[in-house]
Amino acid sequence: MVDKKKLRRRPSKVELGETELAIQWLDGEHSRFSLADLRGSCPCAVCCQARGQSEQEMQLPGGELPVLTGGAATATASAREFIYVGRYGIRIEWADGHNTGIYTFESLREQADG
Ligand SMILES: [Zn+2]
Repeated sequence: MVDKKKLRRRPSKVELGETELAIQWLDGEHSRFSLADLRGSCPCAVCCQARGQSEQEMQLPGGELPVLTGGAATATASAREFIYVGRYGIRIEWADGHNTGIYTFESLREQADG
């Protein structure tokens, strides 16, 4: 018996391109993820905090445009390589050296399925 639900979240092949990450899943589906989107949604603590801060800045009264500072505004969306993390995800090493975000296959697949 094959557990289809497990296969859904297992990649048979992961390919890193210039602007996107392509995943071939064991259940036969194929997904592509924009590297810019992946970088923008980096799940590591540093990036999550940076995004939280800029959301707060946007809520400042007075209508001033928030000044984007730090990682969020300047983060590169080009990736050097990716490393498998156990069997559940990958870690992407970005061209600027940032590599602490782990993208689980489960969350990638959820994103792909919308
Ligand atoms: Zn990050």
